[in-house]
Amino acid sequence: MSFIVAIDGPAAAGKGTISKAVAAHFGFAHLDTGLLYRAVGAKVIAGAEPVAAARALDPVDLENDSLRTAAVAQAASEVAVIPDVRAALVAFQRSFAGRDGGAVLDGRDIGTVICPAADVKLFVTASPECRAERRFQELSGKGTDTTFETVLADVKERDARDHNRATAPLVPADDAVLLDTSELTAAQAIAAAIKVVAAARS
Ligand code: C5P
Repeated sequence: MSFIVAIDGPAAAGKGTISKAVAAHFGFAHLDTGLLYRAVGAKVIAGAEPVAAARALDPVDLENDSLRTAAVAQAASEVAVIPDVRAALVAFQRSFAGRDGGAVLDGRDIGTVICPAADVKLFVTASPECRAERRFQELSGKGTDTTFETVLADVKERDARDHNRATAPLVPADDAVLLDTSELTAAQAIAAAIKVVAAARS
């Protein structure tokens, strides 16, 4: 039987950490849908045409460590405004969501567009400064040479593009539970999300 958990929110709000932990806790499969847009973005950087790249996307394209760079994130948010790119990625996401045994999908439009009938919807947020600080620590820890100001500018630029695009803009679904992680540790945010999912399952 399927059970769909949709987790949306802006960049670096903690969606990834929360989604992985929720999936592990309940034994659900997990799809980071940002990787789909990143994989298309990476192909565009390499010279491909965005819509053709999205239509030709293969699940193995998602297993590439280089998708985590800031340059690929920017390219991802640029291709994500193209309606035909988004349309090309819908079927893969819906089929993943509908699998037996439950699935967690995290992204920007899972609860609004991809799975409007999801069993649980969470919208995870945090202030831009807080998200930039977390991302800055993560990148510095990996040895990336950057500054807090650069990361904050990048977060704000991606936020603006995600909020303002005409197709599938970043907005909470009407029936989403809001989870602001600004003042929470990762463990507290995970516990809060598990509580919401557990309540929906009972
Ligand atoms: O979540 P992540 O930072 O990996 O996403 C990269 C970019 O892909 C986002 O800035 C957003 O523009 C786009 N995206 C999207 N819809 C999703 C997931 C990601 O538009 N469901």
